[in-house]
Amino acid sequence: MAVLSRSDPEVYDAIKNEIGRQRSTLEMIASENFTSLAVMEAQGCVMTNKYSEGYPGKRYYGGNQFIDVTENLARDRAKKLFNAEHANVQPHAGSQANMEAYFATLKLGDKILSLFLPEGGHLSHGSPVNFSGQWYKIVHYHLDPETGTLDYDAIRKTAIAEKPQMVLCGYSAYPRTVDFKAFKEIADEVGAIMLADIAHIAGLCAGGAHPQPFPYADIVTTTTHKTLRGPRGAMIMCKEKYAQAIDKAVFPGMQGGPLEHAIAGKAVCFGEALKPEFKEYAKQVVKNAKALADELMAKGFKLVSDGTDNHLMLVDLRNKGCTGKEAQNWLEETGITANKNMVPQDDKSPFVTSGIRLGTPALTTRGMKESEMKEIAGMIDKIIAAKGDPAATAIARGDVIALCGKHPLYPELKW
Ligand SMILES: *Cc1c(COP(=O)(O)O)cnc(C)c1O
Repeated sequence: MAVLSRSDPEVYDAIKNEIGRQRSTLEMIASENFTSLAVMEAQGCVMTNKYSEGYPGKRYYGGNQFIDVTENLARDRAKKLFNAEHANVQPHAGSQANMEAYFATLKLGDKILSLFLPEGGHLSHGSPVNFSGQWYKIVHYHLDPETGTLDYDAIRKTAIAEKPQMVLCGYSAYPRTVDFKAFKEIADEVGAIMLADIAHIAGLCAGGAHPQPFPYADIVTTTTHKTLRGPRGAMIMCKEKYAQAIDKAVFPGMQGGPLEHAIAGKAVCFGEALKPEFKEYAKQVVKNAKALADELMAKGFKLVSDGTDNHLMLVDLRNKGCTGKEAQNWLEETGITANKNMVPQDDKSPFVTSGIRLGTPALTTRGMKESEMKEIAGMIDKIIAAKGDPAATAIARGDVIALCGKHPLYPELKW
């Protein structure tokens, strides 16, 4: 970044400090990952200069012949990755993708059935502080309070009683496999559209480590920057039946010019995810999560649903005598980045919480395996037992730096 370093040293320094932070910490936020340098090169390119309202072959501006190449590559690769009949790769973010999917298929005031946010849902699935909760009627289903898992019979009963226009599955903090077929059957029984928001698990679906939402889902929304390991952004896929409505809802319905540099990055990401190595990656993410979960449980930690099938786990800290906020801070001081999270039947506020969410996608990208997960579980156990004690924190910080040093991030970058 020689040009930037001369032209804007303040921004340059912040970027340089950020790569230093990423290199020297253990990234355990379940929704984060490290893209390849190829994705970043594509994303940081001249395609940011171009207006391309419309779709490949049907643009409102001239000069889109090469933009069409990357957008078509992204669309075709996305369809192949997820066995989708149609893909729209223009949504700027996961929340916009959901907004556009609702706009395409629902009327204001229609009813959406989704999981309650504090139990693992997402803001854009009907939270009262989000547009979704204000523009649509929201009915929530809940996790089984005993097992912490989806209760399909209860969801079906709520659907029959409430007759929603849309049944939504897809979560930000749910550690178990989602049964898309069961959701489709429930949606069909009440004549609702089934939307699967696979923002978190997209990379696992694409890599064969979680079942695919198609052919069951009518519409699938996803981010591209979580387990899928692409640039920050999103897309919507759907059955051919909904293709025209989705495309119209994205443009001109909700967005103007697409971020074609981000779409170039998405194309590269999907190309990477089609390679056999990505299947290995997705499998390792799940193996690592299982290893971390098993070791934490062996150390007396309570996990919601007693384990994990995917890339994340929710640690319920109520038996450890601390809050999610405290644990997040203590971990952060040692260089382990995670986030506090509500657990089912949480009596604390969302700013405090009784749990933390831990994920393995980013650590797995750094090449860590089961043995490192065991080591990290040991570190977490000690850090939480020490309750922020400065001497213990300093020792743990040293352990984190040593482990990061064994798995260098972006070693090709000269910084
Ligand atoms: C992350 C996430 C989103 C939103 O993504 P943004 O890009 O942050 O808007 C939507 N749905 C689910 C389930 C998510 O986990």
